[in-house]
Amino acid sequence: MFDYTEEQEAIRRTAREFARKEVAPGVAERDAAARFDTQLFRRMGELGFIGMLMPEEVGGSDTDILSFSLVLEEIGKVDLALAWSLFASLSFAHPVATLGTPEQKALWMDTIVRPVLRGEANTAMGITEPDAGSDNARIRTRAVRDGDAWVINGSKTFITGAGLDICKGVVAVCLTDPEQFRFDHIFIPTGTPGYRIGPPLRKMGLHSSDTRELFFDDVRVPLNHRIGMEGQGLERTKSGFFTARILISSTCLGLAEECLTLATDWARQRVAFGKPITRYQYVQGLLTDMALNIELGRLIRDKAAHLAMQGKPFAKEASMCKWFVTEMAKDCADKAVQIFGGLGFMESCPVSRYYRDIRAATIGEGTTEIQRHVVAREMGLRS
Ligand SMILES: Cc1cc2nc3c(=O)[nH]c(=O)nc-3n(C[C@H](O)[C@H](O)[C@H](O)COP(=O)(O)OP(=O)(O)OC[C@H]3O[C@@H](n4cnc5c(N)ncnc54)[C@H](O)[C@@H]3O)c2cc1C
Repeated sequence: MFDYTEEQEAIRRTAREFARKEVAPGVAERDAAARFDTQLFRRMGELGFIGMLMPEEVGGSDTDILSFSLVLEEIGKVDLALAWSLFASLSFAHPVATLGTPEQKALWMDTIVRPVLRGEANTAMGITEPDAGSDNARIRTRAVRDGDAWVINGSKTFITGAGLDICKGVVAVCLTDPEQFRFDHIFIPTGTPGYRIGPPLRKMGLHSSDTRELFFDDVRVPLNHRIGMEGQGLERTKSGFFTARILISSTCLGLAEECLTLATDWARQRVAFGKPITRYQYVQGLLTDMALNIELGRLIRDKAAHLAMQGKPFAKEASMCKWFVTEMAKDCADKAVQIFGGLGFMESCPVSRYYRDIRAATIGEGTTEIQRHVVAREMGLRS
């Protein structure tokens, strides 16, 4: 129960080697230049990481969610922005490969799905709007049938990856039936007339990740661009969150572990008042708290992943995992900066980047407060 299989350990070693040898060398430069590295993304495709949760018949490896989580953890130790890009692209490829009609598969398998798996292309997921974040039932981007097309009007904000040169399009969650209050996922290819991508949004952290506002003015796409069952868009958005919560937690678990490693190494060598600072109980307390919480985070992540792999309900555990691990990682980054002292506040010190980057983790994929709501609901406290 507390060990990973040999195969999982082998996958983890491959990811660790990739992260240390190929991702780490340029991470500070990418952050400073706010540059997403498409070559690294392609390498993740070549190594088979992007296709890990995808069916074999489309070129994936249909691996278990825990193995994929270990890969995300290793990359998260080095570059949180790149780790997030790894699971974000599945938002289009996975539903098309698993739920797509034969017509959609014929249309997109070779043009988008397989290129995404190879790391040559990506797609974005457009849920959030200026007036609809946690409360996604307030989504007002409207898609109306007109002959053989959907006509889409509205906007999305804080959307990851939509502005990259390799981005093939966005899956926009649209209101399609205001009377029945139904929503659908509609794919809007990049370059469609009326689809405009705003300039990159400047952020506190995750600088090498692309984040944009998107605008739709009378955008027309064929009716077969609707993905999944009619009117089920909001339900699918919510159920997609369960797995995504385990995945995002894994990247943050990696970041927390790296904060502990860096802070411990530093504390052993930093001398104050004639002793290494590890000899002071207050500093020990910071490090031991980090170590304990990382252990707890790993246990809850692994449990949520095991439940998902066994096909058992895991909504409560996924939300507990997201809530605990992202808050814990934020706290670890804060403690690491404290242990590094003034150096921890300098941009040259990796923990200062971790401290900035992790701030988004308790907000994206459902805020901490929303995770608490889900847990309360799953405990039957809200009925
Ligand atoms: C770096 C980054 C990347 C992102 N990428 C994407 C993306 O690719 N696609 C996408 O669609 N979105 C993306 N988002 C948006 C993200 O999903 C939203 O920011 C998030 O869902 C929160 O919505 P909001 O910002 O509107 O905050 P709000 O929903 O307005 O929340 C504001 C505050 O109110 C609290 N709150 C809200 N409702 C309740 C309640 N019922 N009870 C208690 N507290 C409550 C929240 O917890 C929060 O503290 C990204 C965000 C970031 C920061």
